[in-house]
Amino acid sequence: MAPQNTKNPFEYAPAPESRSIVDIKPSYGLFINGEFVDGHGKSFKTISPSTEEVLAEVAEADEADVDAAVKAARKAYDKVWSKMPGRERAKYLYRIARIIQERSRELAVLESIDNGKPIKESRDVDVPIVAAHFFYYAGWADKLEYAGRGNDPQPLGVAGQIIPWNFPLLMLAWKIAPALACGNTVVLKPAETTPLTALLFAEICQQAELPPGVVNIITGAGGTGQALVGHPGIDKVAFTGSTDVGKAIARTVAGTDKKVTLELGGKAANIVFDDAPLDQAVEGIVTGIFFNQGHVCCAGSRLLVQESIADELLAKLKRRMSTLRIGDPLDKNTDIGAINSAEQLARIRELSDIGEAEGAGRWSPPCDLPAHGFWFPPTLFTDVTQAHRIAREEIFGPVLSVLTFRTPSEAVEKANNTPYGLSAGVWTEKGSLILHMANQLRAGVVWANTFNKFDPTSPFGGFKESGYGREGGRHGLEAYLK
Ligand code: NAD
Repeated sequence: MAPQNTKNPFEYAPAPESRSIVDIKPSYGLFINGEFVDGHGKSFKTISPSTEEVLAEVAEADEADVDAAVKAARKAYDKVWSKMPGRERAKYLYRIARIIQERSRELAVLESIDNGKPIKESRDVDVPIVAAHFFYYAGWADKLEYAGRGNDPQPLGVAGQIIPWNFPLLMLAWKIAPALACGNTVVLKPAETTPLTALLFAEICQQAELPPGVVNIITGAGGTGQALVGHPGIDKVAFTGSTDVGKAIARTVAGTDKKVTLELGGKAANIVFDDAPLDQAVEGIVTGIFFNQGHVCCAGSRLLVQESIADELLAKLKRRMSTLRIGDPLDKNTDIGAINSAEQLARIRELSDIGEAEGAGRWSPPCDLPAHGFWFPPTLFTDVTQAHRIAREEIFGPVLSVLTFRTPSEAVEKANNTPYGLSAGVWTEKGSLILHMANQLRAGVVWANTFNKFDPTSPFGGFKESGYGREGGRHGLEAYLK
């Protein structure tokens, strides 16, 4: 499948990455107590969103399977992992980090096949940050007394971890690395549309000779997640996903002594002032909303642009959007890959149609989308007001809503006028304005003159309906210590 943007001024020859490095098995079991076992429940198919080809049949864990995984994690916690000195746990984490680096191409290709994201992103962003996360938390494992939780901080026990499909391996790393560094054991459930890299990670745990039961991977959909959250044998729930499911989880664990962290949705404002370097800002806007097809919780999905430069900025942005290459996720020149699932595509289409019906101006560069798979062109909405649903609801796709403002206080008011509070961006040459805005914005992360940058040493998390708790950095340890 060649890149499909027919109006692209730069024609590149196809440069597909070979998929021969990955060995996708016809079927997968559950990873419990260090081994792959058959589940007791049904199975489901995982498909490639760019071709709709069935990739593998994957076991769907039922309550008995969840129970077996939690029991394996408890046994490993009591007998091995919580007793092991931090410096020994660190050795396993370093080993896992190094194996991830050694097998990085395999992981990147598999992630792009199962998720639909461009190989240049899985190869250059996701997998390197995954390895960096394991290296970073390996370094903490024998220094937990400096984590700010007292002289002898203790692990929580067994963590039940549930992750979404947008960054399957990266979200796994954000969950598993700090949990293990602190001495917890885990049962992790990947999303039902992207289970394959988590199952490859299970093989990496075997290769690293991680003691059985320290990491358990159970596959399945919402029902499996519910069984995990409701299991009386877990001490902690760590969830990344939608705000609706996050609320349901909070209700389930209310009244129990389970600890919870929730990393939920977002509707970030990317704010461009009239003195900003516009070409640089355009790159940041494109990265903010079109990176990973816009399937990013902290995506800069609302562009707030100062009125005096709106026309100039939008002209530059449209020109830049016309050069984005959509198509085969495994092609090294692809900028925008496939939408992860038919359901997600339907949601993006529905909200975009509502945007048009409510009176916003819709624009996409001319591009022919591939005939098979799930695709949506990069899309821009102008004349958006704060009341429009496309300005309020998370679209979770390559769709940007543009609003204007005149003064910094108007920008703050509009940026904060959302139930979410995960991230924001500020573009200006004035350092004082950046600090002023960062103080006023109700968002967990504020990027200045850049966007969507991630580092294992920085905490990440939200305000309001974007959730609570932090992942990454020293703060990320607090979620896994008493
Ligand atoms: P989702 O909430 O539908 O699913 C997330 C995970 O929860 C999946 O593994 C799913 O199987 C599981 N699940 C579904 N119902 C469940 C239930 N009742 N009980 C327990 N588990 C259940 O979300 P999604 O569509 O997979 O992911 C997209 C959402 O995730 C977006 O809203 C996005 O903003 C958010 N997200 C947030 C962050 C963050 O760090 N804040 C990061 C990535 C994604």
